[in-house]
Amino acid sequence: MKITLKDGSVKEFDKAMSVYDIAMSISEGLARVACAGEVNGKTVDLRTVVDSDCNLSILTFEDEAGKAAYRHTASHVLAEAVKRLYPEAKCAIGPSIDTGFYYDFDIHSFTREDLDKLEAEMKKIIKEGHEITRYTLPRDKAIEFMKEKNEPYKVELIEDLPEDAEISFYDQGGFVDLCAGPHLMSTKPLKAIKLISSSGAYWRGSEKNKMLTRIYGTAYTKKTELDEYLQHLEDIKLRDHNKLGREMELFTTVDVIGQGLPLLMPNGVKIVQRLQRWIEDEETSRGYMRTKTPLMAKSDLYKISGHWDHYKEGMFVLGDEEKDKEVFAPMQIW
Ligand SMILES: [Zn+2]
Repeated sequence: MKITLKDGSVKEFDKAMSVYDIAMSISEGLARVACAGEVNGKTVDLRTVVDSDCNLSILTFEDEAGKAAYRHTASHVLAEAVKRLYPEAKCAIGPSIDTGFYYDFDIHSFTREDLDKLEAEMKKIIKEGHEITRYTLPRDKAIEFMKEKNEPYKVELIEDLPEDAEISFYDQGGFVDLCAGPHLMSTKPLKAIKLISSSGAYWRGSEKNKMLTRIYGTAYTKKTELDEYLQHLEDIKLRDHNKLGREMELFTTVDVIGQGLPLLMPNGVKIVQRLQRWIEDEETSRGYMRTKTPLMAKSDLYKISGHWDHYKEGMFVLGDEEKDKEVFAPMQIW
């Protein structure tokens, strides 16, 4: 088979090879930093066996999909650490995200101290350098396996997979997780990891479901890059408008009114007024003229615009259509 690489060069092999072995055949250094592969534009696992002509890219941490595989591997390490320290925890899902990864667990909430302990356990697992292996199971066996492990969320996930889906598992030194991959070949390449925070998150994002505990973390290949990111998080905290606005007495909130409804204080109003004046002057100088419309309008208007039929349930309506001659709703600017 002929493999066309990213740089356009073509490699020929006389037998089927895994993406990892092809990376090895190019250079050991490349295989060491390989996180995933891309075959004909599709992200694949390093273990994926290629048996016919194709375009192949070896993805590293510098590639988005490679970074995702790297960080997703870190999320599995977090899950193992949680299960080691809290065997009663039930694992839900643990994807990579733009800023790192998270994992949801059915367990009590965690303090910063707990997160530090988990982080130390993760570093231990990484140091142990477990090889990560992938295998598949038929649906009934996969469900049975996760039932045995007392992982009800995983059972639910498997049950919801399409009938013809391949159900794969990744094993890192005995810790097994249901996962579509891709993953690194071992936990060893994980270098700079940090657990950032923990918060509540509903199972499958629905408030009808149980509230789980989500742990956010991140992972980099270089400590300097991790430090840079952590510094960035600190900087964001310093620029937090919610914190600054209160300190500068721009606004306050009161429980009986609502935490999301700020009351502007004199300093805050001054800013709004100055902005308004500036905008009005700017409009005048550019030849615009202002008009004003009523705050509300009869339902007839919304019937013409189509809002009445589509959005009436979500609209704030004054009056009762059955009883009142006219009903009103606030005018909206679209
Ligand atoms: Zn996974």
